[in-house]
Amino acid sequence: MSAATSLATSARLGVMLTELRLPTMKRLVPEVCVQSDHEGWPGQQLVETLLEHEMHEREVRRIERHRIESNLSPDKRLSSFDFAAVPCVSKAQVMALAQGHEWLQRGANVLLFGPPGVGKSHLIAGLGHALIDAGCRVLFTRCSELVQRLQAARRDLRLAHELAKLDRFDLLVLDDLSYVRRDQAETSVLFELICERYERKSIAITANTPFSQWGEVFVDAAMTVAAVDRLAHHATILEMNVASYRLRAAQEAKAPARRAKPATTIGAAA
Ligand code: ADP
Ligand code: MG
Repeated sequence: MSAATSLATSARLGVMLTELRLPTMKRLVPEVCVQSDHEGWPGQQLVETLLEHEMHEREVRRIERHRIESNLSPDKRLSSFDFAAVPCVSKAQVMALAQGHEWLQRGANVLLFGPPGVGKSHLIAGLGHALIDAGCRVLFTRCSELVQRLQAARRDLRLAHELAKLDRFDLLVLDDLSYVRRDQAETSVLFELICERYERKSIAITANTPFSQWGEVFVDAAMTVAAVDRLAHHATILEMNVASYRLRAAQEAKAPARRAKPATTIGAAA
């Protein structure tokens, strides 16, 4: 084949790969074909190699899209979470949850309780990132914001549609349930969301207050019991009853300055 024909063929190939939406193959065809010719690969190996690259990059792009739509803080990962700071939380249990699939398929929930600053949002965001890496879809929302959105949807008679849109997420994170305003209309949309996803799609909730004080979120006592019942029925509960991480970090930042003197003295004596 003359150089001119080969050039024409590759231009045609480029057009076909664009048409078929195979950008990775289009980018790699020149390099991989040269390698294939040079090493005398069988035709099947060449096709497989190109398709493997295309599928791999497609998966990477898909995960990146899921990460962007998730609204998760990019830096709150499990890798940057100090499990030693919360001995009451089992790292093994969190890592098992990070595998996803089985509990998400059952629509099971995760509930994180503890005072402010103990790492509830960080831990659930880290879990969210890990689940996205495992191929799942996650949406992180501040509970009060989602409630407002659903309330607006109800006013516009679009609530069922908005709830259905949330179905595409395997896990819906409602961060800071305790900050939802005590208002019947707001909490009833939250209740509807909980009922809608029950045993189908998972919810993760972080809250400063344990179940006993959720009466302050759901005005109606019967609604509180029914919401807690559904959420807790298939749930992993992580109690994070430690001192604030921020507070401890600030105290430890000051402490070495105070400890520095005796340490130097010991060093000098040795
Ligand atoms: P909460 O949601 O319980 O109020 P956050 O998750 O917002 O707490 O944590 C407060 C700050 O402290 C965040 O910047 C978070 O990244 C950090 N933090 C809390 N706990 C840990 C931890 N165990 N390891 C690393 N960083 C932590
Ligand atoms: Mg938080």
